[in-house]
Amino acid sequence: LALLGYLSVFPQKSLPIYKDENTPIENRIEDLLIQMTLEEKILQMNQWTYGKNANPNNYESKIKDINPEIGSIIYRSTNPKYRNYIQKKAIEESRLGIPIIFGFDVIHGYRTIFPIPLAQACSWNIDLVKKSCEISAKEAWLSGIDWTFSPMVDVARDARWGRVSEGYGEDSYANSVFGVAAIQGYQGEDLSDKYTIAACLKHYIGYSLSEGGRDYHYSDVSQQTLWETFIPPFEAGINAGAATVMSGFNDISGIPASANHYTLTEILKEQWEFDGFVVSDWGSIKNLIYQGVAKDRKEAGLKSFLAGVDMDMVDDVYIENLSELIKEEKITISQIDEAVRRILRVKFKLGLFDNPYVDELDEKDTYLQPNDLKIAQKLAVESMVLLKNENDVLPLKSSYKNIAIIGPMAKDSVNIMGFWEGKGRSEDVETVYEGLTKEFGTKLKYAKGCDFDGNDTSGFKEAIKIAEKSEIVLIFLGEKRNWSGENGSRSTLSLPKIQEQLVLELKKTGKPIILILSSGRPLELNRLHEEVDAIIEMWQPGTAGGSAISGIISGRINPSGKLSITFPLTTGQIPIYYNMRPSAVPGSGNYKDIPKEPLYWMGHGLSYTTYSYSDITLSSTEISKSDTLIAEIEVSNIGNMTGKETVLWYISDPVANISRPVKELKFFEKKELKKGTKAIYRFEINPIKDLSYIDSFGNKHLESGDFYITVNDKKVRFKLVD
Ligand code: BGC
Repeated sequence: LALLGYLSVFPQKSLPIYKDENTPIENRIEDLLIQMTLEEKILQMNQWTYGKNANPNNYESKIKDINPEIGSIIYRSTNPKYRNYIQKKAIEESRLGIPIIFGFDVIHGYRTIFPIPLAQACSWNIDLVKKSCEISAKEAWLSGIDWTFSPMVDVARDARWGRVSEGYGEDSYANSVFGVAAIQGYQGEDLSDKYTIAACLKHYIGYSLSEGGRDYHYSDVSQQTLWETFIPPFEAGINAGAATVMSGFNDISGIPASANHYTLTEILKEQWEFDGFVVSDWGSIKNLIYQGVAKDRKEAGLKSFLAGVDMDMVDDVYIENLSELIKEEKITISQIDEAVRRILRVKFKLGLFDNPYVDELDEKDTYLQPNDLKIAQKLAVESMVLLKNENDVLPLKSSYKNIAIIGPMAKDSVNIMGFWEGKGRSEDVETVYEGLTKEFGTKLKYAKGCDFDGNDTSGFKEAIKIAEKSEIVLIFLGEKRNWSGENGSRSTLSLPKIQEQLVLELKKTGKPIILILSSGRPLELNRLHEEVDAIIEMWQPGTAGGSAISGIISGRINPSGKLSITFPLTTGQIPIYYNMRPSAVPGSGNYKDIPKEPLYWMGHGLSYTTYSYSDITLSSTEISKSDTLIAEIEVSNIGNMTGKETVLWYISDPVANISRPVKELKFFEKKELKKGTKAIYRFEINPIKDLSYIDSFGNKHLESGDFYITVNDKKVRFKLVD
C-alpha cells in the first residue's frame, strides 16, 4: 500500500523537477544545477553574436555556428521564426534543454521609435514613458527578443559625451523615476507574461564621467559623487525589480567598473540583495587588459568573474578560461554555481523553460499599431521644449500665406530617429515636412539651404529667395543621429558652421525666424539665440516626430516639455548642472569672457498659455523626523489655451556636516489645466527620504535644522527638529 501511495504521488514518467512549472523557481534552479557539467555551466555564462550576414531565410546555413548550449545570443534574434528555430535547437538538441535568452538594444523603441530618453525625460510624464516601454517590449517580444539593454540611468554630467542622449538627463532623481518607469514598462507585472522582456540597468557605474566627454575614457568618480549622484537611480531600479545589470567601460577610482568588487558584489549583490545577473558591456572584460589591470585575457576573466560579472558579452574570455581557472584553484565551482544560478533564475522568471517560443504573427499585426503610434506622438509632443518665443511669434498665425521651410532636417527621416533606432525604418517616419503639409498645405515653400555639415553654401541662394517671398521662416537644423549616442562624442556643442551661417544669412531678409532643433544633446546656441525669434528643441523625436512638431508649430498642440538637462551658454562652461554645490565666495565663479549662467537651466520650458503660481503653503513650519510635511502650491492657467504644467519641487539644505548641492529635485508632477482653471499641486515630504543626505561611505544622515522648498521663484523655509 505504501508503495502504491508513493507511485501515485510520483508518477513514473514525471518531468524532471526543473521542467515542472509548478515547482518553485529556486528548487528548479537547484535541480538543474546538480545535473549540469562544468562545461554546460560555463556556456551559460557567455553571450554570443554570430554571422553578421545571418540570413533569416536560410536558417541551416547559420545555425551550424550556434552551440545550442550557449547561454545567450545578442542581436541576431530579431525575427520570430529565426528565434524559434534557434530556440528549438537549444530545447531539443542540448543535453538538458536549457533555453537561450535573446538580447537586443531596445532603447527607445523597436519598430515604433519613440523620442530618445533624454527627450522623454523632458516630458516629465512618467505614465507615457512607461507606456512607451510597454509598447517597445511588445514589439520586441513579438520579434523574438527576451531581454533589452535598457534603461540607461547614467546621470548626464557632460553633454560632449554622446551618450547623454540615452539617459534621462542631469538629475539623479529624474533618472531614478524614469528608470523605474522603463523597467515597469518592459517587465510588466510578471516577467513570464507574453509581451514582457527583461530590463537591464546600465552602465554600472559612473560611465558618464568619461573625461572630456570622450567615450570609453578614464573617469574620475569620487566616492561622494558615486553615492550621491550615480547610485540612487541604480538602487531605485534594483528595488523596482530590474532583472539584470550591465557593467561599464569606465573605472571608479582606478578600478574598472567591470572588475569592481566593491560596486558589483558588495553594493549590488550583498547590500541590495540583487538576485538577477550582471552582464559585462561589449568587450569590457578583455578591455581590462587595455585599462592596465590584467596582463592577458585569462587574468581579465579572473578579475571580472571575481568582481561579480556573471555573463561575458561576446568576449569568449569566460569560455576560454574559466575551467582552467578552476583547475588552478583560482576560482571555485561554488562561485561558478552562483553566477549560473543567477542566469538561470532570470530565464525561469521569464518563463523560458515553460514557454520557450514566441508567437509568429504577421508584421502588420505586430508593429506600428495605431494606438501605439498615438502614444509615440504624445510622448514626442510632450518631450519637445519651447525654449524661446519672442512676441508670441508661435503658434503660427493662420493669416500667413507663404511659409518658408528651410534646413537639412525638414525632410529628414533618418536622423530624427536618433541613435539606437532599434529596427526603426525611415519609411515609417513622418518627416517634419510631411507633418507640416498636413497643417499648412500649399502655403509651404521649401528649400534645403545646406547639408548638416561641410562648406557647400550653394543652396543658400534658393533658401534666401524663398525666405524673401514668405512672411515667416521655419528653419530645421541639428545633429545627425550618429553625432550622439555610443562613440558619438563631440568637442563642442555648437552646430556646424554651415548651419549657423545659413541662419545668419536668412536673418538678413528681415523675416521672423523660428529655429527648430533636432539633436541628441543640448546645443551651444549663443551665436544664434539673439538672431531668431523663437526656438524649439524637438530632440530626436522618432517615428511620430513630424506630426508632433507640426502640431506645436500650428498651435493645435500646446508645448509642455521642460528641459531635463541644462543648455550651457558655451561648451567651455561644462560641467554645469543645476545642483552644483555653493561656491566659497558668494557671487563668485565668474568668467572674464562670458557670463557664468547657462543659457537655460534644467527645468526651463515655455508654453502658449500663462500659468500663475501661488506662494507655497506648508502644513507646518516645524516638523520632527518622523512627521510628514505637506507642501502645496496652486497653479492657475490664466492664458488662452489649455495646457499641461509640470511643477518641479526642489529642496535645499543650507547647513549640514557636508556641503550640500544648492538645491535638489525631490518630486515632480504634471497636470492638465484647462484655460481659466487652477489646480493644487501637492508634495508630501518624508524626512528620511527627502531631507537626508548620503555620505561618501553610503551612510544616510538626517540632520535637524532649516530647509527650503522652492518651486520656480517661490521659496519657503521650515525647520526639522529632533
Ligand atoms: C554598449 C551598450 C550596449 C551593448 C550591446 C555596448 O557597446 O555600451 O550600451 O547595450 O554594446 O549592444
